[in-house]
Amino acid sequence: MGFYSRLIPKQSCALCAEPAPFCVCQECELEFTNHQPRCQSCAHPINIKLDFCGQCLVHAPKFNRAYTLYDYQGPITHLIKAFKYDHQLCIGDYFAHQLFGLYQSIIDSDAHYDAIIPMPLSQERIQERGYNQVLELLRVIGKRETVTIDTQSVTRTKATQALSLLKLEQRQQEIKGAFSVKTLPYQSVLLVDDVMTTGSSMNELAKTILKNTQVEHCDVMTLARAESKFN
Ligand SMILES: [Zn+2]
Ligand SMILES: [Zn+2]
Repeated sequence: MGFYSRLIPKQSCALCAEPAPFCVCQECELEFTNHQPRCQSCAHPINIKLDFCGQCLVHAPKFNRAYTLYDYQGPITHLIKAFKYDHQLCIGDYFAHQLFGLYQSIIDSDAHYDAIIPMPLSQERIQERGYNQVLELLRVIGKRETVTIDTQSVTRTKATQALSLLKLEQRQQEIKGAFSVKTLPYQSVLLVDDVMTTGSSMNELAKTILKNTQVEHCDVMTLARAESKFN
């Protein structure tokens, strides 16, 4: 292979099909947004200079703080869907690198976690998809950081319907008891999922962990934060 052929991008952008060094070109990447400010609690976009969104002021979530990389809107939604439903590995790799960057910035801000816990999928969902996509998102962190990625201690015991279509009370009812947890030898954990919409699943997961283990602190990290019409 000659010098120049090595410089020629071998891939095309998953969004616009133009040649790209990775599976996303720089132009498309510029279209990804990350709204600021965000609610200090649930990372929902807020417009005015408040620390918390209306929803969190009324019902504070069980987790302490949520961090996210993108707004779930525009081209990023296509990229996330291509990753989740078409299982495009290159996109997973791209996101895993981006999420590693976010993780480092969280750690640099003095946060400490004894373990990372990916949102567990139900057996039905794993069989349907063949894998848990959240684990793919954690691959770079898993390689470069010493933090434990615990995939064994929390399980999903109930498959739930799409929570974003339900009202608050219905969501709480639907997700209630969806997780079961073993003893966790940690004090502080980071829960990870691809997209957070209403936050109900994360809230239930944090609630289950805080109630049944010695864990005292749960933060949340997601790839994208969708605007919930309930906020
Ligand atoms: Zn592109
Ligand atoms: Zn909030």
